[in-house]
Amino acid sequence: MLARRAAILAVGSELLTPTKVDTNSLAITEVLNALGIEVAAKAVVGDAPDELAAHIRMAVGRHAVVVITGGLGPTEDDLTRDVVATVMGRPLVEDPALVEQIRERFTARGLEMPESNRRQGQVPEGSRVIPNTRGSAPGLWLAHDGGVVILLPGPPSEMRPMLEGPVREWLIDHGAPAHLIRRVLRVAGRTESGVDAHVHPLYMPWAHESPSVATTILASAGVVELHLSAVTSDAEAGQALLHGKVRALQQLLGDDVVSVDGRSLSQVVGDLLRAQGATVTAAESCTGGLLTALLTDVPGSSDYVDRTAVVYSNEAKREWLGVSPALVDAHGAVSGPVARAMATGALAHSSATVAVAITGIAGPGGGTIAKPVGTVWFALAHRTASAVKAVCCRFAGDRAGVRRFAALTALDLLRRHLLGVPLTVDWRVPEAPDA
Ligand code: ATP
Repeated sequence: MLARRAAILAVGSELLTPTKVDTNSLAITEVLNALGIEVAAKAVVGDAPDELAAHIRMAVGRHAVVVITGGLGPTEDDLTRDVVATVMGRPLVEDPALVEQIRERFTARGLEMPESNRRQGQVPEGSRVIPNTRGSAPGLWLAHDGGVVILLPGPPSEMRPMLEGPVREWLIDHGAPAHLIRRVLRVAGRTESGVDAHVHPLYMPWAHESPSVATTILASAGVVELHLSAVTSDAEAGQALLHGKVRALQQLLGDDVVSVDGRSLSQVVGDLLRAQGATVTAAESCTGGLLTALLTDVPGSSDYVDRTAVVYSNEAKREWLGVSPALVDAHGAVSGPVARAMATGALAHSSATVAVAITGIAGPGGGTIAKPVGTVWFALAHRTASAVKAVCCRFAGDRAGVRRFAALTALDLLRRHLLGVPLTVDWRVPEAPDA
């Protein structure tokens, strides 16, 4: 039975340049994870034999499953096969059947096999050939006492079918432990540390239960993700286990939970609008259309996005939304009254059910002591309600960060409004000056 941890080595000097990205390791990770094998380490290694040997030695010494991709071609700089043979102490031997297969690939195209391709017919002693149906470089499966070393070619179109076909099957045959079950809980309106402080006492003991549940917190602007994972031999039992954990977290976090089924904040808001037969309009100032981009990220969003306006100048606010210049003069463009007027104006100039307005200072200039950079006012107006809600928030970060945070917060405030729950978010300024 193979142990649960793996290492991946992506070989090729081109992968160390700024122009080429190692995507193979992501595909490999996906397949390994689905079999319950966790990737403990991965590295990108250039075409230097000593460097490659050191990495292979370390990976094989530490992990039961080592997957190496790239460097299996016929040319002199394709070193993987030779270096693996040396490190594993398995001399290279020619596999006549393999040489014949490679020759046939050339013959089928009316070509003669170049002598250099004969190299690809040499395999470390005792290895099993993984057939390559898309190219000439065969893959290799090298079982040893502590586990297996798997060699796959670099071109993704050749590597993938081998990975998803024979490699996957053989890993299962060799007792790849089980299933890795994952769930993601998305939370909005809370800082990462705020969420962690709240839920840490709940999830901390899970790591020591059997089967254990690992919890990781990831944060990006405006949304915190709680990733739960468990390795179990029974997929259904694993799903049920994580379902229970997700429910417990959901109870603790309440309205701050955006989704437990992988849906993004945009999708959740879209689903709420659709379920309520509602449509939305927006008036954006400091976010320059980012809220609209988020809303319309979702396929089919034209069902519920009516129209939106990006309004920066006072004239635009007046002409498109009917915001009076006197109001702007009296309170400033970044103020509760102007945000409210933008929301009611957007509603009046559309056929939407609900309007969201954003006006703020994204920086780096334009801040004052009373309204520092990062101050953003939001307003929500609903066609069937006379009261217009307004919220002031303060975000940290550079211009791009403030804008992204503001757009996501607008989306979250809209979600809370549609759910009919309080508009409480961690970055809200409770006593915001309205002028
Ligand atoms: P061959 O030389 O027969 O094509 P190979 O196994 O020697 O196969 P490489 O020469 O290392 O493969 O890489 C061939 C091409 O495959 C690279 O130019 C690159 O475009 C792509 N490739 C290699 N490794 C990766 C990787 N880890 N992720 C994404 N693409 C890769």
